Amino acid sequence: MTSRNTIQRSIIEDELRRHANHPTADDVYEGVHAEHPSISRATVYRTLNRLADEGTIGRVRINNGADRFDHRSFAHYHVRCTVCGRVDDVMIPLVEGIDERAERATGYRVCGHTLQFDGVCPACQRSEASTA
Ligand SMILES: [Zn+2]
Ligand SMILES: [Zn+2]
Repeated sequence: MTSRNTIQRSIIEDELRRHANHPTADDVYEGVHAEHPSISRATVYRTLNRLADEGTIGRVRINNGADRFDHRSFAHYHVRCTVCGRVDDVMIPLVEGIDERAERATGYRVCGHTLQFDGVCPACQRSEASTA
């Protein structure tokens, strides 16, 4: 890997870390582009996907939406607001053994699962209450 790539990679990782709240690749690109106009959208996308494939960062697949990226790479759950679309961490213990149970039930060799909670975030609950 060339040093230029290494520099771009750390700029993109820093930008991801500044967005605590699971940005899309476009969100990261907007932030990177504001300070480093020479870094292209394609570079940001490619770098985020490579970091996620390596396990350096997390990738959150959203039903009916763009992938979000996560500076926390360890396994955890997410909740998505059905009103504003924000995605937050759900720091509860992981459900143990469900991959094995799914394997026994189906005969598949299961390599993982996605568990996404949907709901209305506290801020949207407050604005619903104030407009009601
Ligand atoms: Zn919301
Ligand atoms: Zn997360």
